[in-house]
Amino acid sequence: MSCLFCKILKGEIPSKKAFENENVLGFHDITPQAKGHVLFIHKNHTSNLTELMNLQPNQIQDLFSAMRDFARSQNLEEAGFRVVTNQGKHAGQTVFHTHFHMLYGENLSGFGR
Ligand code: 5GP
Ligand code: ZN
Repeated sequence: MSCLFCKILKGEIPSKKAFENENVLGFHDITPQAKGHVLFIHKNHTSNLTELMNLQPNQIQDLFSAMRDFARSQNLEEAGFRVVTNQGKHAGQTVFHTHFHMLYGENLSGFGR
């Protein structure tokens, strides 16, 4: 298995853990794009949102519940945060294990701001 994020799940590549439960791992992005930048992945590998929704649609609830719980634990609900996934070439996906970027901790540029 050559998937980078599966290696992080197995502990073969170190990461800075931000959140973990039975189904989901959240870890700090190695190249943060905001003061807070955590990647949320399901422990069950799929390669992108299309594959996740085709094969394991329940995983979306696991992932968004985890992000909700993390936001609550870090008191981010009022100040806010942004969640993004990149699929494929046009979005610039570089790691082919479905992941959601959560950005927080400062005013975020782009998306109409
Ligand atoms: P993508 O471009 O596929 O949406 O996002 C991949 C993300 O993974 C990038 O933001 C990149 O900085 C991050 N990343 C790549 N390799 C590693 C790594 O080894 N450790 C961590 N923590 N993040 C990584
Ligand atoms: Zn994987």
